[in-house]
Amino acid sequence: MNRYLGLTIIGLIAGGGNLLGGYVIARQQMIRSNLLRWLTATGAGFLLAVVILEVVPEVSRQWSGGLGTAMGWLLAGYLLLHLAEHTIAPHFHFGEETHHQEMHERGVALKALLGLSIHALFDGVVMAAGLLTDLRLGLVLFIAVFLHKIPEGITIASIMISAGRDRRAAWRATILIAGATLVGILSVTIIEPAIRYALPFSAGVTLYVAASDLIPEVNREFEDQVDRPSIPSSLFVFVGVILFYLTHLLLTEALGHI
Ligand SMILES: [Zn+2]
Ligand SMILES: [Zn+2]
Repeated sequence: MNRYLGLTIIGLIAGGGNLLGGYVIARQQMIRSNLLRWLTATGAGFLLAVVILEVVPEVSRQWSGGLGTAMGWLLAGYLLLHLAEHTIAPHFHFGEETHHQEMHERGVALKALLGLSIHALFDGVVMAAGLLTDLRLGLVLFIAVFLHKIPEGITIASIMISAGRDRRAAWRATILIAGATLVGILSVTIIEPAIRYALPFSAGVTLYVAASDLIPEVNREFEDQVDRPSIPSSLFVFVGVILFYLTHLLLTEALGHI
């Protein structure tokens, strides 16, 4: 299959997860679903395991010198997302946005949208960098990223609704996030010569998504929720790790190890 066609399909599926999440919010405005929390937690565990067990060892193996160090690039990616999502944006967290008052302050929703667009762009870059390195690594990163795409769509659409925008604006913002993912994955032509930097940098971004966006959201349920889920969301982080391990075994069996 043509490489760009394959990348476009993967980008469209990942962006499709965003659209699905955004659609749910644009239709019914509010969700109170344990299923979503469990999915977010599973995605967090899966992503965390992929970065630590697959990407970091691969980056160390491949690093042959250059500007800075591989782990320096990873830290830079981590810090970029901290800057974009939580330093520039005064109010951002993953999951359904319910703090209407904060969101009504001028510019707060737009800054959160900007932060999440940068995040979504790197969702695409990390999948592309993984695929360029190794098909198996790319596939496992694709699954990892996909698992948090529905909650991500819900996040952005509910930010817009909380800010008092209409459903159309929520939908447009969701399309922007999905589009940023696609742009990220198609940036493969630009990042190919710089792949040695792109992989650790985008892995740092992904580490932030897993450990500093998703896991705190999973743990927030005891503060925010009146009706606690029957199974605590935090348990699903472990489910995500186990799911990663099974996927790893399956893909190694099918495609061989790098
Ligand atoms: Zn909030
Ligand atoms: Zn994302």
